[in-house]
Amino acid sequence: MKVFHTIAEFREYRRSLAMGGQGAMLPFVPTMGALHEGHASLVRHARNMRDAAGGGAVFASIFVNPTQFGPSEDFSKYPRTLEADLALLEANGADAVFVPSAQEMYPALNSADAAVRTTDLAAMTSVDSGPLSTVLEGAIRPGHFRGVCTVVAKLLNITGPSHLLLGQKDFQQQAVLRQMCLDLDMPVEVVTCPTVREADGLAMSSRNRYLSAEERARAVALFETLTWAKGAFDGGARQPEMLEAGMRQRLIARRLEPQYATVVHAQSLQPFDAAGGIAAPAVLLIAAKLGGTRLIDNMLL
Ligand code: AMP
Repeated sequence: MKVFHTIAEFREYRRSLAMGGQGAMLPFVPTMGALHEGHASLVRHARNMRDAAGGGAVFASIFVNPTQFGPSEDFSKYPRTLEADLALLEANGADAVFVPSAQEMYPALNSADAAVRTTDLAAMTSVDSGPLSTVLEGAIRPGHFRGVCTVVAKLLNITGPSHLLLGQKDFQQQAVLRQMCLDLDMPVEVVTCPTVREADGLAMSSRNRYLSAEERARAVALFETLTWAKGAFDGGARQPEMLEAGMRQRLIARRLEPQYATVVHAQSLQPFDAAGGIAAPAVLLIAAKLGGTRLIDNMLL
């Protein structure tokens, strides 16, 4: 597995690929590191695509992107486990990993001090993340998706992949990035892979390691709440208020603080009105705080 730290090095490697022309199978898995089995499943999916195509290369990146964190978020304490991450990527079939510094990615922002935040993007060209980014996570984390879209657009320009692999775990993120690729005619196909969960149902996340043992036990309330709401929907419930009130109640009962617990159209991310009721394709989405940790999860209906 090759590891590149600069844009120039990755570009040189990309040009050197014999199969680098049109039609080559070059799936790409961008990450922020602190990798776990959820990330590993994306890399294995990419490896299977490469192997099924009979050639190509699996690209991954590790970059804790400062411009998608708000000023009071966990950028500086975000877990950094580079050696273990590289071992995981190699074991699961990555061929080339891009691990840039903040300075390499954002020279215009003078980010050597790692203090770049969402608002700093005003000092450079960035990607307007569009209407799907104004609700839910976007409403709570202003500028977050501008940072995500900008860094992913840069990573796509640097790596030149055929496919962009994203996790369903970050449901709104995959929707926003899928729309960006469509709207900006990016020559890449977006593939969304299923959420990988712990044995009790908790969605794997790099942020789970912030949880104390006691909080970890209660964190399963997200999955249990989603499962309850899906069960109610499957049993015929179509009233969004009923599901939302039930979800909130279940989270609060386990002393989680819901920021949203909602059901929206899976493509437009818009709520359903009470008169029409919930209709597929719909997705249940939760963001909740547990102590100092913010967790998100979702389930398709
Ligand atoms: P992150 O490192 O958190 O930015 O995540 C990198 C990619 O891995 C994103 O596309 C995430 O949606 C995906 N991902 C994170 N956690 C999981 C999970 N538990 N299951 C599947 N994909 C995941």
